[in-house]
Order: sequence, then structure tokens, then C-alpha cells
Amino acid sequence: MSDYRLGIDIGGTKIEIVALDAEGQMVLRHRVGNPGTYQGLLSEVKKLVDDAHARTNPYATVGVGIPGAVDAHTRLVKNANATWLNGKPFADDLQNVLGFPVRVENDANCFALSEATDGAAAGRNVVFGVILGSGMGGGIIVEGKPLKGLHDIAGEWGHTPLPWVREDEFPMPKCFCGNSGCLERFLCGPALAEAWKGVGNRSVQGIEDAAAAGDVAAQHALDLYVDRLGRACALIVNIIDPDAIVLGGGVSNLNCLYERVPEVMKRYVITPDCQTELLKNKHGDSSGVRGAAWLWG
Ligand SMILES: [Zn+2]
Repeated sequence: MSDYRLGIDIGGTKIEIVALDAEGQMVLRHRVGNPGTYQGLLSEVKKLVDDAHARTNPYATVGVGIPGAVDAHTRLVKNANATWLNGKPFADDLQNVLGFPVRVENDANCFALSEATDGAAAGRNVVFGVILGSGMGGGIIVEGKPLKGLHDIAGEWGHTPLPWVREDEFPMPKCFCGNSGCLERFLCGPALAEAWKGVGNRSVQGIEDAAAAGDVAAQHALDLYVDRLGRACALIVNIIDPDAIVLGGGVSNLNCLYERVPEVMKRYVITPDCQTELLKNKHGDSSGVRGAAWLWG
């Protein structure tokens, strides 16, 4: 047995590995490019694990976060934006390459697990973790474990529709998933940037300062964003009633969200005393890879 846990985060362009000691201190961190092919990925991960084992403990556990899900029935990856991973038995192949068991989980679930274990929502029983980045993901942690669900899609609120729609919000924008009005079309980073500075703008950096300085477009975009995120969070509270909602991804750096969004939530949640905490993540960009390590609790 080992007191060390290795976490690996597989992104579209990079692979990151960390080693956490028994106290959750990061004792090793290394980032390499994602080779972009399936066989290349398997051998790159093996190299990273061998190296980390040599530098920590050869029995350190391995957890992996992927931008998709491993279907519990078919064992194949699905819904990955690195599309060449889809349809592959990644968890089984990786176990064969490494020669010991690994745990593989959706990256938004890893983010939520990290924040629920020793992050912003440490000690809370039920935690909803949300990534508001270039896309939108979510994960539900119950008593320290990711809630997977029958189809391994629990927490995927990005492709649920905007709730409590007002008449002036029609027509709903089309989403790549085939439906219209998905939350991701309103709440991902590029959607906010587009509402502020127009199509093609991908950054929301500076929007708060611009709004404070009187930029009307920034104020309007932020007002709408706060209102819609508040409605989306209220829907989550009505269904799973978490102790805390933790925000991650680039948009989570907007400080105004933590003051303003809970006020909107109170108007929609079906209880007169909504006390759900809305928290900024503690571990930032490291949360996904730390959560992968915590898959071995
Ligand atoms: Zn959609």
C-alpha cells in the first residue's frame, strides 16, 4: 500500500499528472502535450505513471479524469470532445498497459470531487460542482463520491434548457447537441464574451472592470448572465438541494457572481429561506487533476 495518490487529467491538448501525499499536499506536478492519438495517449500516460511511481511510491494509486464518460455498460468512452477517444475502452486498455487497476471519471466529476474533498466545499455532504469554461460541465458529489447515474451523465446540466424563460428571450439559440436553449449556450465563457463584445470574442477578462467603469454593454451582459445563472442554480437546488454549489472554469473568476447570483436564486427556489452556498473553487486549474487523484478515497 502507499500513502500517495496519482491524479491524471487528460485534456484536448495536454496531459497533466500530480502526486498527492496523505495530507493532500502536491508533491509532484508535470504537464506534457497530448499526442492526439489513442495509442500515443496510452503510452504517454504509462511513461508519466512510471516516472511518478519511481519518484513517490511504486504502489501509488492512479485516478484519471477525461473530457467524457466511461459508459458502465459498454465500458466505452462517450461524449468526449477529444472525439478520437469516443468508442474506445480507455479504462480497460489503460489497466492492461499499466498492469493494475485504475479509476477513470468524467473531468467535471473530478473537479467537484476535489472541491468537496479538500477544496471550497470540504466537509459538505452534497456538493454540485460546475465548470463555466469554454464549455460547461457539472458533477454531483454525495458523501465524498461522484454520483454517476444510470447512463454516467449525472450532473450534465449544460444540455438542460434555460428555466423560467421570459418572453423576450425567445427565440432560443440552437445548440450543437441538436436542441435549442441549452444552458451552455448562455452560460459558457464564450457566450458571455459574445454578449459583451460580439461574435468571435472568447475572453471575459476585464468585463467586471468595464461594467464598473460604465460600459453599458458589459453591464447588460453581466446582468443577464447573473440572472440566468441564478435561475439555472435554483433549478439544481429544487432537484438535488446540495449543501453547496462550487464554480470553476474561467467565468468563476468574476467576483460579482458570489454576491449577486444567490439573490436571484432566492427568488426561484421553492423554499422561503434558501441558504445554499455559492462558492468559488479553492484549487483553480489544479482542481480537476487533484480530483482524479482523490478517486481513490
Ligand atoms: Zn445542448
